[in-house]
Amino acid sequence: MGAFVMAEKSSAIRRADYQPPKYFTPEVHMTFYLDDNGVDGQARIVTKTKITRNGQHNDPVILNGEYFNLDSVKVNGQPLSASADPKTGYVKGEDTLTIDPGLDSFELEVETSFNAKENGAAEGLYKQGGSYTTQCEAEGFRRMTYAVDRPDNMAKFTTDIIFDPSKIKNALSNGNMTDEQDLGNGLIRRRWEDPFLKPTYLFALCGNNFAMIEDTYTTASGRDVKLEVYAEPKYKDGLQHSMESLKRAMKWDEDVWGLEYDLDKYMVVADDYFNMGAMENKGLNVFNPKYLLAHPAYADDADYYHVEGVIGHEYFHNWTGNRVTVRNWLELCLKEGLTVFRDQSFSADMSNALATRIENVMTLKRAQFPEDSGPLVHAPRMEEAEEMNNIYTSTVYNKGGEINRMLMQILGKDGFFKGAGLYFKRHDGEAVGVEEWVGAHADANNVNLDQFMLWYTQGGRPSLKADWAYDEGRGKFMLHLVQNVPTIDGVSNGAPRVIPVNFGLIAPDGTEIAAEVLEFNADRETFEFDAPKGCVPSLMRGFSAPVTLDAGYARDELYFLAANDTDMFNRWSAIQMLVEDELLDGYDSAVQGGQYTPSSKTIALFKHILNDATLDNEVKALMLTIPSVGVLEQQIFDRDPALIREVRKTLEQKISCDLYQDWINTYQLNADFNSAYEYNMTEKGRRALMNKALHYIAASEEIAAYPLLQAQYTLSNNFNDKQAAFVAIMNREYAAADAARYRDDFYAQHKDYVTATDRWTQIVASAGNTDAASFTDLCNHADNKNNITANRIRALYNGLSGNGALFHAPDGSGYKLLADKIIMLESGPVDQRNPQLASRLVDNFTEFKEYKADLRDKMRASIESIARAPEISKNTAEKLKKFLGVNEYDALRKAVVAPSAPQNTPKP
Ligand SMILES: [Zn+2]
Repeated sequence: MGAFVMAEKSSAIRRADYQPPKYFTPEVHMTFYLDDNGVDGQARIVTKTKITRNGQHNDPVILNGEYFNLDSVKVNGQPLSASADPKTGYVKGEDTLTIDPGLDSFELEVETSFNAKENGAAEGLYKQGGSYTTQCEAEGFRRMTYAVDRPDNMAKFTTDIIFDPSKIKNALSNGNMTDEQDLGNGLIRRRWEDPFLKPTYLFALCGNNFAMIEDTYTTASGRDVKLEVYAEPKYKDGLQHSMESLKRAMKWDEDVWGLEYDLDKYMVVADDYFNMGAMENKGLNVFNPKYLLAHPAYADDADYYHVEGVIGHEYFHNWTGNRVTVRNWLELCLKEGLTVFRDQSFSADMSNALATRIENVMTLKRAQFPEDSGPLVHAPRMEEAEEMNNIYTSTVYNKGGEINRMLMQILGKDGFFKGAGLYFKRHDGEAVGVEEWVGAHADANNVNLDQFMLWYTQGGRPSLKADWAYDEGRGKFMLHLVQNVPTIDGVSNGAPRVIPVNFGLIAPDGTEIAAEVLEFNADRETFEFDAPKGCVPSLMRGFSAPVTLDAGYARDELYFLAANDTDMFNRWSAIQMLVEDELLDGYDSAVQGGQYTPSSKTIALFKHILNDATLDNEVKALMLTIPSVGVLEQQIFDRDPALIREVRKTLEQKISCDLYQDWINTYQLNADFNSAYEYNMTEKGRRALMNKALHYIAASEEIAAYPLLQAQYTLSNNFNDKQAAFVAIMNREYAAADAARYRDDFYAQHKDYVTATDRWTQIVASAGNTDAASFTDLCNHADNKNNITANRIRALYNGLSGNGALFHAPDGSGYKLLADKIIMLESGPVDQRNPQLASRLVDNFTEFKEYKADLRDKMRASIESIARAPEISKNTAEKLKKFLGVNEYDALRKAVVAPSAPQNTPKP
């Protein structure tokens, strides 16, 4: 999946307990009757499953299944009735079906039914917004029928869809369409066959009335593949970027990895109600529209960039995930970490490689670092988990990506691809784990990677301490490295890791004396280099390992690197370190009641960067970006978020005012309101720098800046630039009187586009000019009240948590707004319950222990209020136990009056 999914019930699994399935199901034939008997949303499913015993044993067949009505069961065509004994009939448990016909091989036929419109959880088969869609990863398949619903059981699927073509235009499933029959009663039966074995989680079915664009891709071996991208008719002209991205991804995977597509058809379908980013179902991807639609009228540059990346990600899964899948869900990092690495490499090759790497590192620090530091810390390859949908974490995805990046640095490109080639040769068609991936690299390169495996099997983030000295007598620069790996009960044993340290040495005149990747695998080690006196080390270039760098840089050394490092990533990195350092010092003095005064050297550095004509525009815009409040907060215990924002704002305003004319010049040089929007590296860079200048001009808090913002808002002919002006207006005090007018105007201009309305919602929710009353208005806005997609709820409540003043209101009201929404998603009206989404929103409380006492207590009170919800899903419960401790959580639950129904999701 492309990040973020759902099932309330599944027992905790431990990797050590892994056993292969007792039975396999090599063939599955499903017949879906959609809108059965003309009833909107009614689904009837007849599933014929070939079941074969695996090995020598006499255990009964236990199948997973929940949520639906069970209408009939047959074994080899003979009806079976309900029984208490699986030898004489079928035994229906709460989420299992047990039979014991005493046969090594037989056909089980099961008929199930439910109304897909009532499936608000958006897992299994659901019909919301008028379209049938499935989501089966991780454990959604069992919400349609009974199955051996685990990734190491693979089947060849044949799917018949019976539908009324006057109501459903597109009836799609995995594989190739092999037959279609008019049944004569106004219904059509369409057959799909997928020749490849796949686990249940990769099954998909869509039934909708979407528009489609099509194209053809000819593979390296000369096969023609039909490509189809589907979305609501009004979005048809926003699909071309996805199609082009898909073709680029197919070509890139052939050129770089030597991997070709295997089916005759590749389909991609948008679904507004999709909980996740996107899903790599074999030959039939389902996408959140956020990652599929791109049009100048409703998508910004970042959207275009992410569409290309996620299209690539899901396509690349066809080999890393589908052809070779995971043995059990705790190995998720095998397919996701590797596929993130592949999509990041693809994005780097397609666009600005340096800017892409900086963005990837910023994402890792923002999303993954807090997991490492908080109660949710876990190894990328987990030992146990309760709720499978909770394992789709940034640690699995983003840190997993970094692990593969390190592997390539250690083995070199050739060695890495030799290992990958052996992995596909050995394991195509199999379900494996990270050991097989790393093992193939070790064997192909004849190296021992046992220590490297610790990156997968151990959690927490090592800190890398670096200091240095110069031996004048010998003319040697000496670099001393020490690693401190945290010891975390059940997560990390503290053993040293192998850390690739991408290193450079810069002489006082700016020349590079050394550049190499040091393999640091001990507790401590000293590296020596022949060098002149006065060199400055450039450490962890490209962020060569996911560690916290604790380097003994003097400020002047950082100023030197920021202006002179031959590695552009590390110039950016030096600026970040410098500014972080300064702001943290400023915060410390503000805590003591002192005044933070920005350093004139920092202002001069920003001026130098801004006016350096040799820098790439997009990279320059990133270099001129001050570390976010979130990144600063991570380094402060007992934190006062209002004070952090204040200190950061002081620096931003100083950079803005002191360099005002430079910003105006840069803006004028890069502004262009006449040319039509084009998405390419040059234009993207120009717009990034123009809008960075606009941001600083606005941040001056000078009323003189306001007309410029208004002009850009009015003159822009594309969403990207209009949005930038809108954000500036919504966050500036001098525009507060007009905020409501702009808020309504931006909405009116974009209300026909769902992704743009999501964005509008998020911008308004997080805006400085939005207070508690206007947040409530926003929630009650006609569009937000009626349109309750996961995207919209995330826009509102992640927007809220990004609104520092509102979320961290001293009376705790911001926390309560979020907690109340989570409680609604857990135990509100049945069709609005979405435990997967609720559990995601809980993440906004992850760092609650790090805040100053009064906020910490109020956050904790809100977390406890969630624990006292009338009903609570396994998803959210698992996290609350980690936040509060198991005993405290259990005590809170005990105090809750036992709910009348124990089910999280009602059966139809
Ligand atoms: Zn994925």
